[in-house]
Amino acid sequence: MPENGTFDELGLPPALQAAIADLGFTTPSAIQAQAVPALLSGRDIVGVAQTGTGKTAAFGLPLLASIDPDVHAVQAIVLTPTRELAMQVADAIQSFATHLPGLNVLAVYGGSPFLPQQRALSRGAQVVVGTPGRVLDHLDRRTLKMDDVRFLVLDEADEMLRMGFAEDVDRVLSAAPRERQVALFSATMPPPIRRVAEQHLNRPVEITVSRQASTVTSVRQTYAVVPHRHKTGALARVLAVSEADAAIVFVRTRGAAEEVGSALVERGISAAYISGDVAQTEREKIVDRLRSGALDVLVATDVAARGLDVDRIGLVVNFDVPREPETYVHRIGRTGRAGREGEALSFVTPAEQSRLRQIERTTRQSLIQVEIPTPVEVSAHKVTGLLARTAERKEIGRLDLYREAIAVHLAKNPDVDPVDLLAVLTALAVGDEGPVAASGDDLDDALSRAHLTGGNGRDRDSERGYDRPERDRRNTNTHIAGGSPRWRVAVGHRDGLQPGALVGALTGEGGLTGKDVGKIDIFGSFALVDIPAGLTPEVIDRLARTRVAGRPLRIRQDTGPRPGQGASRPSHGPARGRS
Ligand code: ADP
Ligand code: MG
Repeated sequence: MPENGTFDELGLPPALQAAIADLGFTTPSAIQAQAVPALLSGRDIVGVAQTGTGKTAAFGLPLLASIDPDVHAVQAIVLTPTRELAMQVADAIQSFATHLPGLNVLAVYGGSPFLPQQRALSRGAQVVVGTPGRVLDHLDRRTLKMDDVRFLVLDEADEMLRMGFAEDVDRVLSAAPRERQVALFSATMPPPIRRVAEQHLNRPVEITVSRQASTVTSVRQTYAVVPHRHKTGALARVLAVSEADAAIVFVRTRGAAEEVGSALVERGISAAYISGDVAQTEREKIVDRLRSGALDVLVATDVAARGLDVDRIGLVVNFDVPREPETYVHRIGRTGRAGREGEALSFVTPAEQSRLRQIERTTRQSLIQVEIPTPVEVSAHKVTGLLARTAERKEIGRLDLYREAIAVHLAKNPDVDPVDLLAVLTALAVGDEGPVAASGDDLDDALSRAHLTGGNGRDRDSERGYDRPERDRRNTNTHIAGGSPRWRVAVGHRDGLQPGALVGALTGEGGLTGKDVGKIDIFGSFALVDIPAGLTPEVIDRLARTRVAGRPLRIRQDTGPRPGQGASRPSHGPARGRS
């Protein structure tokens, strides 16, 4: 959007410009271009804008510019409707503050212990982001003092009022010093919000971002015609070939969320579902897992996914076409976040096609028709991905057992064609039945398409930032001899395991930190991971029951085959150690 100018023109201090550059933001969004100068000049503002328009930076940057990091007292308060949003906004503001040493942002919300929040406040956090109820609690207990507060933000004001926080918001604003700035943001402007603005804001600048400007343009919008009874199968295939890190599948009802979510898990996809029936704390856990990579697919109803902001989401699937075009816009706004590319795919039944026209009229963008991948294409995609990993696996070595086993097998079965045997092994590793009755041309086609689209052939590890320096192999072996740092989990490529999911489980359920987790090698039915510091029996116990990609991890120390060892019993596959 060149009409919004550049960030340099907004008058932000250099430390904040540097942070924006680090985050990769190049041009301000419409609301940012208008709100930042107004707030920097000291005005109050009312911003009317939909989700996904970049409101957090619109108020977060000027908020930070107003703070003196040397003063260890609360100087700005942001109120948000939910604890999930409080955490998100606090994280975002902290990320804008990376070049402001000594600046601390604290999220406070109900349902979590008071004391740690109180301690952080007494240590001098300058920015507090919280739900109105908990902020008020802190005010009442005098653990939060308003004397130095110069900047207040009401984020998603309509949502806060809808959730019954009107009185709390009113009390917080009334307790703030007179000399202060207020920024109020809301997707809609019903009379109660107008009243809040009239009562507490001082001649605010009104900024409205039209719906058109909020339609996410970095999202490729597609649709596929799928009869209702084929939707689940189609979805599984779409997910199998998708290049997206994570996906959200929108369904209309709670029942559908459960049904579709369970169907995906049954097919070995790392999926979970959330709906209004799932408790809030449980929902948050699931969203955290999606964020960390422990989960790749979330099936959700519209209500349950409100406000969800997870950068990893590269694909939104509308399992049903939403009735309201506005719901559609809201749904597809879950992808294409943080300046990334996203795709939105809508399943329409042949009878529903007219609804698409309505959506196109509202979003003023046309939807591109695409075909659901065929089973042949799915298999081609998987095998291409598998073959792309062979060079890397060969590097790791420790193949003697398998070489020996193959040699023995071929010697015993002289009629077996080695290429046939490879094909069988590949089918087992890919873990599907193999495409049926397709002609050779179809197969060639599917394979070349899988190659063209990358076919997942990239190095997943380095792509996800888990790249580790090459290890000295002798050194690794010495380690093994003296008490192995390698651990083995009973989940592998066959289950769709990805390194991020394993790291997520080890750090989430196991309580390790990212630094504790070393190199990860994923094989067909298991994976090996370096944990140099080892694991306590409690952690092992907890992790044994943890499920990743729908399967229990069953973590144990790896004593697997070493060169020249175990080759005497090839039929058992990877040896289970000596004792
Ligand atoms: P809102 O609060 O309006 O829903 P957010 O502030 O959460 O929107 O921003 C939505 C997403 O867009 C976030 O992932 C954020 O990092 C990203 N974003 C915000 N401003 C910019 C920008 N100027 N350039 C690129 N990405 C941005
Ligand atoms: Mg927001």
